[in-house]
Amino acid sequence: MSDVGTVYLVGSGPGDPDLLTVRARDLLDAADVVLHDKLPGPEILGLVPEAKREDVGKRAGGERTSQEYTNDRLVELAREGKTVVRLKGGDPFVFGRGGEEMEHLAAHDVPFEVVPGVTSAVGGPGVAGIPVTHRDFVSSVTFVTGHEDPTKPESTVDWDALAATGGTLVVLMGVGKLPDYTRKLREAGMDPDTPVALVERATWPDMRVATGTLDTAVDVRDREGIEPPAITVIGGVAAVRDDVREWLRRG
Ligand code: SAH
Repeated sequence: MSDVGTVYLVGSGPGDPDLLTVRARDLLDAADVVLHDKLPGPEILGLVPEAKREDVGKRAGGERTSQEYTNDRLVELAREGKTVVRLKGGDPFVFGRGGEEMEHLAAHDVPFEVVPGVTSAVGGPGVAGIPVTHRDFVSSVTFVTGHEDPTKPESTVDWDALAATGGTLVVLMGVGKLPDYTRKLREAGMDPDTPVALVERATWPDMRVATGTLDTAVDVRDREGIEPPAITVIGGVAAVRDDVREWLRRG
């Protein structure tokens, strides 16, 4: 039996290949197999020869590959002695299920390494000229999912509490549920004129940014046809973009 291979839980960054870490780039070259979904984007996936790639995102027919399948597949490949890269969009531990996969590997005696990536939650707004914190406006930032596990009986996101922080809110997976949480935030007393920005496909060649307010965000989304993957930024920082835009390149 061959020695057990190592699994690398690698963050790809938001999509521009130039934003891969040097370590990520080296591992993509060195890997025997790269397990991925669509989130790293076409440019980064295009760097990996097709023969090395296994798509564990959507399967033919549109059905989602189960997390159990991915977990088991990682262990199986490592036990075959393979060098395995589990490539994830952004950072593997920011809403990326990297934590679950790491625990599964440890429980099955598979050695692993974590390779952080530029998370879209910070880098996405950043390239659009939106600093997630700014000394003049905010002293906190919260990362939150807009799309909770639909099998959970109750919401675990306390939007009332988030409205009260006064800090920046960065919502991931938040395109579809935008009407729900903008309403909840308004009901919780957040100013309807609070700036909101939607950053779609950040750093991809076809990146788009749309801006509005808590009141207009849903109309803006519909008018511009914003689709996932996109980041929603809620807070005063979202308006900084307008002040700097003239000098902003590539954003
Ligand atoms: N681990 C990832 C997040 C995975 S959750 C990270 O750190 O970036 C999936 C969500 O990430 C998407 O619904 C979207 O909100 C966000 N996302 C990932 N890549 C993105 C990109 N290039 N542009 C905008 N949003 C992105």
